[in-house]
This record gives sequence, C-alpha cells and structure tokens, in this order.
Amino acid sequence: MSKKALFYHKESEFIRCDLCFHGCRIKKAEKGICGVRENRGGVLISLNYAKLVATARDPIEKKPLYHFYPATYAYSIAAAGCGLKCKFCQNWTISQVQGREKELLSLPEVQPQEVVEAALNYNCASIAYTYTEPTVFIEYVLDTAFLAKEYHILNVFISNGFMQKEVVKELANCIDAFNIDLKSFSDRFYSKICGAEEGSLLKILDNLAAIKEKDIWLEITTLFIPSLNDSPREMRQIAKFIAQLDKNIPWHISAFYPSYKLLNLPPTSSEVLKVAYDIGKEEGLRFIYIGNIVTKLGSNTYCPFCHNLLVEREGFWVVKNLLEGRGNCPYCGLKIAGRF
Ligand code: SF4
Repeated sequence: MSKKALFYHKESEFIRCDLCFHGCRIKKAEKGICGVRENRGGVLISLNYAKLVATARDPIEKKPLYHFYPATYAYSIAAAGCGLKCKFCQNWTISQVQGREKELLSLPEVQPQEVVEAALNYNCASIAYTYTEPTVFIEYVLDTAFLAKEYHILNVFISNGFMQKEVVKELANCIDAFNIDLKSFSDRFYSKICGAEEGSLLKILDNLAAIKEKDIWLEITTLFIPSLNDSPREMRQIAKFIAQLDKNIPWHISAFYPSYKLLNLPPTSSEVLKVAYDIGKEEGLRFIYIGNIVTKLGSNTYCPFCHNLLVEREGFWVVKNLLEGRGNCPYCGLKIAGRF
C-alpha cells in the first residue's frame, strides 16, 4: 500500500519535505535523504508505511526509560530508515536503506490494528516506536498511537530529536514518553559524524525544551564515543543543559562499541562513564544511569532526598520496585519524578 505522506508542501516542480531538519527538496521520482519518502507525480509517498523490519516485546527499561512504569513491557516496532547517517549507528542494517530498498521496503504489511492486538496479547503496557528513527515513519506512528490510546495502551517514542517543531506538536497529542538522544553538544559532531546540517544542535535542544514544556515524560541518552564527544568539557555542557531544563530528567550515559563506520575506535571505558556520572551529579542531575556496560554504578534509582534504594535493577530487569503504583519514596515521602 502506498501511503500519502504528511508534513510536506509543493514548491513549483519540487516537493519540500517538512518532516525532519534536512527539509529535502525532492524532484519527481526521487527520494529524500532518508530513502523512505518519494515524490510520485507531485505527491509525497511514505515507502515504509506498515513495513515493519523489527518487532519485539521489550522491558521498558531497554528503551531506555527508567522512570516510566518500571517493570512493564513495551511492544517495540520499527520500520526502516533514518534522516541521520551516524557513523556509529548500532542499528545501521535497518536504519540505512540506501542500496537495501528491496529487502527493507518490500515487506508484508502489518496494519496498526495488528500492532495494537499484539501489544494486548503480549500484555504490554505500551507500544515503543524505536530501533530506527520513528520520525521517518511518522504516518504509521500516528495511526498506531491514536488507535492504541483507544485501548488504553501507552505510546513511547525513542528518537534522535531531529524533527521539525510541527512534528513534535503532533506527537504531543499521542505520545506519553520520549527518550531522545542528545548525541553531542557540538554542532560539528552532528554535521561531521551524523550527517546533519549546521545549526541542527540548537534545533534539537529546542525540541527537548518543547517536549519538557508540554509535560510529556522525557529521558535523555548520550552515547560517549572515545575521542569524539567524551571530553569532560562536553560532558559538562550536556549535563548543564539538562539540569537547566529540569534536574529530574533521567540522563542515560551509554558506552560505545565499535560499529558500522567507526570500527577503528575502542569501546568506551567504565572510567570515562564514571567521569560523566560525577560531572552530571556535580551539575545537580538527580537521576543518572549508566548503560551498555556491565556495572553496578548507575543502574538503580535512589531517593534524591533520603538516598534510600527505590528501584533495584539487574541489567534491564527490575528486581525490586518500591515506587510501583505510588511514585513517592516510602521512607521520606518525596515525590519521585516520573510515571509510576
Ligand atoms: S524525512 Fe527528512 S530526510 Fe526524509 S525526505 Fe523528509 S526531510 Fe528528507
């Protein structure tokens, strides 16, 4: 099924896609940078609508979302594509479609109703739009998310934040939680390593602020890559920015492993993540979690006031949850930020 895309307008003989910051000008019979939106006779078509390349029942902690109904499951889905071309992408086999269109865009269709039914059958509290970049399958996200709401299923959007303001506004009507990658605090990193245009960092920061203003639950992830974005200065810039937005936003700091086009760099050491953790604490962040590496530091949730253990985790598994159904610290009564 060809699905007419949302978020575009016509400009003489071109189509201008208004979905992500690239704002591709697309000639007839051509596609945008993401490779999944095509100008067919002056109409923009979403080529990946309902063509799911991945589905899984994941603990919500795997997204990662640590303060959003811990220990529940998310029915995770992805269609192919991404607007960015991060050299370190861990899911590049499904996010980068160029040259692999046949494999990724000719799949049998899974309609939104079937996704909702699967989420119900697998006892999932939420549907997660994840693994690739859900912005580039926005039409499917919206159809599925609005339907899911009718069945009291929550929706979570795991994204690079590289989408235009109007898209955030629309998502705010159906998404209950976001995890957004803040990949760097350098515009140069976004352009050289991720293929973004200059000025993208500021726009992503604006989107984070917009999500926060709308009072939708937000967690932020940063993957630290040796020599590219792991200087203490940059760690502090990121932590400061998050703290200015809200010190209660959980910050997931994550380890890089050699992947895709960055096979020449070593994995991130636990020492580097500890530096980021300490800097985040110095900047006042209340919840910092370390991911992608085996460590006891930064996996549990503690009360920021009385410091008692509230949620204990082993990997993505919650082994103890004292916040379930209440969201207040049982020792001192402090309201813990999140949805519980
Ligand atoms: S989603 Fe982004 S990359 Fe894809 S066509 Fe639209 S503007 Fe271009």
